Amino acid sequence: APSEAAFDTTIHRRKTRPVRVGDTTIGGGYPVVVQSMINEDTLDVEGSVAAIRRLHEIGCEIVRVTVPSMAHARALAQIKAQLAATYQPVPLVADVHHNGMKIALEVAKHVDKVRINPGLYVFEKPKPGRSEYTPDEFQEIGDKIRQTLEPLVLSLKQQDKAMRIGVNHGSLAERMLFTYGDTPEGMVESALEFIRICESLEFYNLVISLKASRVPVMLAAYRLMVQRMNELGMDYPLHLGVTEAGDGEYGRIKSTAGIGTLLAEGIGDTIRVSLTEAPEKEIPVCYSILQALGLRKTMVEYVACPSCGRTLFNLEDVLREVRQATSHLTGLDIAVMGCIVNGPGEMADADYGYVGKTPGYISLYRGREEIKRVPEDQGVVELINLIKADGRWIDP
Ligand code: SF4
Repeated sequence: APSEAAFDTTIHRRKTRPVRVGDTTIGGGYPVVVQSMINEDTLDVEGSVAAIRRLHEIGCEIVRVTVPSMAHARALAQIKAQLAATYQPVPLVADVHHNGMKIALEVAKHVDKVRINPGLYVFEKPKPGRSEYTPDEFQEIGDKIRQTLEPLVLSLKQQDKAMRIGVNHGSLAERMLFTYGDTPEGMVESALEFIRICESLEFYNLVISLKASRVPVMLAAYRLMVQRMNELGMDYPLHLGVTEAGDGEYGRIKSTAGIGTLLAEGIGDTIRVSLTEAPEKEIPVCYSILQALGLRKTMVEYVACPSCGRTLFNLEDVLREVRQATSHLTGLDIAVMGCIVNGPGEMADADYGYVGKTPGYISLYRGREEIKRVPEDQGVVELINLIKADGRWIDP
């Protein structure tokens, strides 16, 4: 007999510790969190508040900002206050660089999470012809990193805020490159070095990312990170992303290939799709990836056949009309099928079906049950009536 696993279609997510970021929680079995980043200069307080609000209103649950100077970091205090006064508090994360430890300490007062990039903590002076670091040199630099990082870690710990250790394949420190190569191992070791510093200070509100612009590199890095964390008994949640994914269709596909593959393996607690487009464009992609994998259901799931010679109406037009009329509903599955030749099973157990019956007529289904046959030009209206009759309609 087939094993139970043969029937198991759920994704078993890796067990991670919950890390709170404002009123949102990453990991700990909470839904995968969607995040993005504003492009505005944070010195432009009004513009930044508007951008954060725009993103939050369409479902961005954590918003990232960048703070290149002390003035930018201080502006975050105003941004936060204005959001609270004119809208609502939004979980914020700030990107900072090592040469701005004072900046990091300032911004840590105003945001819920600070993102640091280990590759930017560079203390080694380039020596021409150098091709390796001795263990002593390696350790010496590690000690300097610890001293630099410690005040920030202690500040975040004291405020019960979070930190993302965000490794980028493109910016690994030289000593990691020489010791481990330009490899997923170098990325993972880079993250582990920073995790160990945090753990030695008893700070565990950590989220880890290992982004790369090449999907196979990113996949290997996250998988190796999970393996190493399992060996070391660590349970930090992971932030997934493909950097520099580009724009348009390929940018979306590339991001989905990387993020979706890992999510399907149960890896990942928060995601960002990085597109060379307005950040608002990233949010629907995130939700579509999560919905396609059954991890979050935030919109109507449309099941539609590709159409063929048997199709009895213009499927593209009808699907568009059905979508226009129903896309504001959530939690429903609606099927639009050109014919019923393969039976209601083809509708993937949708809640409602709009199915070609005979020329000029369509049938409406509730689940697998045929409810009524109506002229095609009344199909969409009758579908809405059926959803209303079932009490599942919400006015747009
Ligand atoms: Fe063709 Fe019918 Fe299959 Fe659609 S459901 S692809 S119309 S056979």
